[in-house]
Amino acid sequence: MSEPEVILFDLDDTIVDFTWNKVSAWRDACELASGRTGADTEALHASIEAIGRRYWADEARSERGRRDLRAAGAEIVATAFEELGVTASTELRRMVSDHYRDLRDGGIRLFPRAIEVLEELRGRGHRLGLVTNGSQQEQRGKIERFDLEGHFEHIQIEGEFGLGKPHDEAYRHALERMGAAAERTWFIGDNIEWDVSAPQRHGMFGVWVDAPGVGLPTGSSHAPDRVIRNIVELL
Ligand SMILES: [Mg+2]
Repeated sequence: MSEPEVILFDLDDTIVDFTWNKVSAWRDACELASGRTGADTEALHASIEAIGRRYWADEARSERGRRDLRAAGAEIVATAFEELGVTASTELRRMVSDHYRDLRDGGIRLFPRAIEVLEELRGRGHRLGLVTNGSQQEQRGKIERFDLEGHFEHIQIEGEFGLGKPHDEAYRHALERMGAAAERTWFIGDNIEWDVSAPQRHGMFGVWVDAPGVGLPTGSSHAPDRVIRNIVELL
């Protein structure tokens, strides 16, 4: 593949390390819940993880949840309490999920050398765009906090545009706004469907960020054009 004219980036877990402290944040929140209700910390944590996986795997529910992450967290915690037969007030359920969210949000950080990567790619003449799912408040908050805006010619946030990945219109709009031909565009991200396979269907080159380096499960229908563990490898 020839050098791309345009590179479209995902934000969370691609440029910004969003989930590195997820497990410890939930554990801490479960300890808080355990202290208030007597629920077993480990059982609660396991239940929240399983319910969370189910919750975010459902496309429609996940889209709704992204609009209000705090409400989504409270719903997941409520379901976990219910499944474990633990009685907890709405206030406590909210407190537990907010505790998790505050810890995790406090931990969000850039991947090492992320800014250097963006600057270097721009210096080499590539034009960059950002296409991210999530609410305006959450995503703009991160863009401002890490001063990312100036690196991108086009920033497309699901909550602002009205549609997110993997809706066809999200990719079409990004290409149109960048004035880019799909075959001269790379899409880089950690979500194999949203950031790799869907962009490939639109004619783009799909680069999968496989941070843990676990690879795709055997028999997977996804076929990224390139696999990296960190965007530093783009340099
Ligand atoms: Mg991501």
